[in-house]
Amino acid sequence: MSGFVFSEKPISIASGEGATLTAENGTEYLDFGASYACTPTGHCHPDVVDAIREQAAELLYVQGSYPVQSRTDLHEKLGALAPGGIENVWLCNSGTEANEAALKFARSATDGTKIVAAKRAFHGRTAGTLSATWKPKYKKPFEPLLEDQIEFVTYGDATELEDAVDDETAAVILEPIQGEGGIHPAPAGYLEAARECTEATDTALIFDEIQTGIGRTGNLWACDGYGVTPDILTTAKGIASGLPMGATLCADWVAEAAGPHGSTFSGNPLVSAAANATLDAVVDEDLPGNAAEVGGYLRDELAALDVPIRDVRGEGLMVGVEVKRGANRVLRDLALEHQVLALPAGRSVVRLLPPLVLEEEHADQVVTALADVLAPKAESQS
Ligand SMILES: *Cc1c(COP(=O)(O)O)cnc(C)c1O
Repeated sequence: MSGFVFSEKPISIASGEGATLTAENGTEYLDFGASYACTPTGHCHPDVVDAIREQAAELLYVQGSYPVQSRTDLHEKLGALAPGGIENVWLCNSGTEANEAALKFARSATDGTKIVAAKRAFHGRTAGTLSATWKPKYKKPFEPLLEDQIEFVTYGDATELEDAVDDETAAVILEPIQGEGGIHPAPAGYLEAARECTEATDTALIFDEIQTGIGRTGNLWACDGYGVTPDILTTAKGIASGLPMGATLCADWVAEAAGPHGSTFSGNPLVSAAANATLDAVVDEDLPGNAAEVGGYLRDELAALDVPIRDVRGEGLMVGVEVKRGANRVLRDLALEHQVLALPAGRSVVRLLPPLVLEEEHADQVVTALADVLAPKAESQS
């Protein structure tokens, strides 16, 4: 057996540029999934490619205890871009590691042990983060995990959350917009309520911005849009344009009490260089602004379609289209008939997470494609 775990798609990808992926047979696809939000700056952004080339020629790796410029720059950049003073930066290699560190830091900095997480949440696949992930399918074969330490609450229900948080709680972990769970933005007042009840009990509030961060929702961080600052914010996916990196941003009181933690590849010079160039492009090209504008246009156009759609949800270029057929059938038709690649979020939601360099004409293309794929068959033939 060669590769396992991932099921392979019948399209071999050879190259990418901007919002376009090109298959080995030359077919061009519009990338509306950005491989799970990993390419905010578009495929092979020239500045990112140059930064990687230059760093590769200088130094690929040295252990984290020796300062290197690209890592030092990234610490400073992330600290400066962090919301409301949570400027202490821990670098790692994936989203699940960023969340695992967040849960560990919350435990070492508080007197509590319990973790409060939301139903439908996705936080990763290590033992700790998988415990805080909702979907039983992902967990069952590996149990027992930390289930005794985790309490799940209904996402969006402030009262249920307030009742679950007490002096025994180390952390509340929430996605400001649930991604994997079906694109569900936090309802008004929910994150504020989370902020208040965690503050009152000296609990760490963790926002998992692994999917919502790096400009995706129209703000650099989704929590900026809600006006709520957590104690710990985790990011990954798009931070280095697809190279493996995660980051855990912490408030002083969490960082000062963080217990021993480490990782061989933390702040790897090559990946740090890619992250610096990515963040520069996101800020200099105002990609959050573009996400807000083109995303707003896309959602309006989708909502105006006269085809069977149950709901259009999201912020910026994090969009969920809840359909009446199975999402996987819709995705197959989009790819094979319209050369549009997108993602599912559960059985009935088509998830759109395109590169943030997207233009209105790309949005038009996906709207036209969805209109055709979702049109009742008899109508589409007439
Ligand atoms: C993808 C994702 C993760 C896990 O990130 P990995 O890099 O796959 O480990 C965690 N939380 C959220 C919200 C995600 O979207």
